[in-house]
Amino acid sequence: MDQKDYGKKPYRPFFAVGGRTRGPYKLQSASRRMQEITQQKRARNTLADVFGVLAALVITALLAAPHLVQEPQEVAAQPEAMVQAEISPSAAPTPAVILPEDPCLVLVNETHPLPAGYAVTPRLYGGIEVNALMYTDLCALLEDAWSADCVLWIASGYRDVETQSSILEQAVENRMNQGMTREAAYEDARLTIQAPGYSEHHTGLAIDFNEVNYAFEDTKEYDWLTAHAAEYGFVQRYPADKVHITGIDYEPWHYRYVGREHALAMQNLQMCLEEYVAYLQSGGVN
Ligand SMILES: [Zn+2]
Repeated sequence: MDQKDYGKKPYRPFFAVGGRTRGPYKLQSASRRMQEITQQKRARNTLADVFGVLAALVITALLAAPHLVQEPQEVAAQPEAMVQAEISPSAAPTPAVILPEDPCLVLVNETHPLPAGYAVTPRLYGGIEVNALMYTDLCALLEDAWSADCVLWIASGYRDVETQSSILEQAVENRMNQGMTREAAYEDARLTIQAPGYSEHHTGLAIDFNEVNYAFEDTKEYDWLTAHAAEYGFVQRYPADKVHITGIDYEPWHYRYVGREHALAMQNLQMCLEEYVAYLQSGGVN
């Protein structure tokens, strides 16, 4: 898919009312000009009325049909009825947030599904697909880490919704094979695996490093990431002290690309992505 398809721009009203051209008036009499001005005013008033009516119609239509603006992501693969029930919450999910200024700030979490129509341009790195938006910075990060004798490697990058469904179902089956009921197996699997449609890996902007286990935080690779990841545009997405905000358990291996400027700002502000997006949307007020 083309990179320019990335993300969905929010609706921005765009009216160009009252524009006028300037021209030579020397051949026109004063009364003629007065007449013209009156006509222009009338035209502007009429335009304003038309736009007023249009705006009212649009608002009425949106109120009458909220599903048109807020369509939850359709999940293609639903291997298990219970899984489907879990990923189709009865309450309509909050619309996903994409800041138009920067597609790297898309927020996907338990209450913000991947936006419908969200397109990722994948690029292969060592057999793993990642979002092309972060490819250059990811290469720089890994090369510099290796130069510092830190063996960082990518365990997981971009995942589509179908893959997430398969991963979750496989995890449920593994647990059932160990004697759990389906309900218990699903509950347990969901502690570490997001529901299809709600995983940040769908954005292609998330990376799981190395062994994807808690031993990672005792490695020099983890220390290097803690010290340097933001310089390359990456942040630890699920820190231990933000679990109450992210809704996800501490994951030392999961990093998220937001771009260098935002990563450094988030680090300085000590904000996770949920906090930072809210901070930007409120105009940078804490
Ligand atoms: Zn992850």
